[in-house]
Amino acid sequence: MEKRLKSRHFVNLNLNVRGLSQSATLLINERSNDLIQKGETVYKLGLGQSPFPVPEIVQEALRHNAHQKDYLPVMGLLKLREAIAEFNYRHQGLECTADDIMIGPGSKELIFILQLVYYGELIIPTPSWVSYSPQARIAGRHVNWVPTSEESEWKLSPEKLDLICRSDPDRPRVVILNYPSNPTGATYSEAWLKKLAKVARKYNIILISDEIYSLLDHNGDHVSIARYYPEGTIVSSGLSKWAGAGGWRLGTFTFPSNLKWLQKAMATVASETFTSTSAPIQYAAVTAFEDHPEINEYLHHSRRILKSLGNYFANRLRAKRITVPTPKGGFYLFPNFSVYREKLAAKGILTSFELCEAILRDTGVAFLPGMEFGRQPEELTARIAYVDFEGETVLKAAMNEYKNLPLTEEFLKKYCSKILYAIAKMEDWLDAL
Ligand code: PMP
Ligand code: GLU
Repeated sequence: MEKRLKSRHFVNLNLNVRGLSQSATLLINERSNDLIQKGETVYKLGLGQSPFPVPEIVQEALRHNAHQKDYLPVMGLLKLREAIAEFNYRHQGLECTADDIMIGPGSKELIFILQLVYYGELIIPTPSWVSYSPQARIAGRHVNWVPTSEESEWKLSPEKLDLICRSDPDRPRVVILNYPSNPTGATYSEAWLKKLAKVARKYNIILISDEIYSLLDHNGDHVSIARYYPEGTIVSSGLSKWAGAGGWRLGTFTFPSNLKWLQKAMATVASETFTSTSAPIQYAAVTAFEDHPEINEYLHHSRRILKSLGNYFANRLRAKRITVPTPKGGFYLFPNFSVYREKLAAKGILTSFELCEAILRDTGVAFLPGMEFGRQPEELTARIAYVDFEGETVLKAAMNEYKNLPLTEEFLKKYCSKILYAIAKMEDWLDAL
């Protein structure tokens, strides 16, 4: 009886949702935790979560604001939006005011609401972050994946973007550009951004520039494309990555003033759905966006650690003939195992999914297949999130003991040993093929 009821309702599931499962990033995390609970050793390189603690002064601000209990304005707390406007100017030279900013419970939600309210096809390079395309599908939007090449570090080429738009120049379109990139760690030069901006302007594209990893550019050199295409760029960011606060759920959109109509439409949906972002979190976030020396120091050392570990990991993979772009920001690597294709095929491993399953089963190293990011299943690419280390301890060591010393292999062996074990496990697995 119960079974019949379930199947009767199942057919009423919205077609846009039917067949979709939980997001790959969250699934791999839950799966890894289940295995750990069963007593297995898992090297958690699946979920892309910052290993660093929320800066102490921001935690302190949250403690002070635990009593904040009122619903806040749909667009977000004014004081916070003012702090973000100043922050945008300080870091990126972007001229904006509090009125141009919208706060949401994670930038993921804001990106989804934009896709819901704006009737345009979604254009994204392959590979792209796992959630853009399912969100488009849920909202009933068409997705146009732009091919890229490994030689150009999987980046979106202005020429290819132009080619896609040329066939139907007036079609409404949303392009999501994400850099430093999840999943590749690559970023764009100013010259490249200027060319992309030119194409975006030519076709009146609504450009979401997902800059959530901007403050984790390893050299602190991030440049926003909003400088070159201010009238059509919405800058997406938040606290999750650079402030280590993914679970706090606070994301930000910065709109150009001529897209006020879009901002208002998003606020309508927000007001009928999440209402406003958690009040204590918004009050605490004001401190995160202010100019504090502690936060600048925290960022400086977070970048040093991520740069050194990312480069080291990439070099160890290369020593095994695996190709991988050098990460320039964030905490991801996007290796290509295709040099092992024949050996893997002999073991029945033909897809990136099967590759990740086999490595997890045999070594305990968990990471995600390239096909989750829009690559063809039989391409042997994968995303590694090099975040399985004790962020607080490593940060303290970099700030004190290693303040003026380079973060060499000796440092990584001492403080990021779990990642180094994971590398060794992968190497042994490849050697045994
Ligand atoms: N964009 C990218 C590229 C991401 O990796 C993430 C992951 N958290 C998000 C957006 C969403 O972040 P949040 O919702 O935590 O702001
Ligand atoms: N963005 C993170 C990742 O790519 C995880 C968080 C999420 O997907 O919401 O792994």
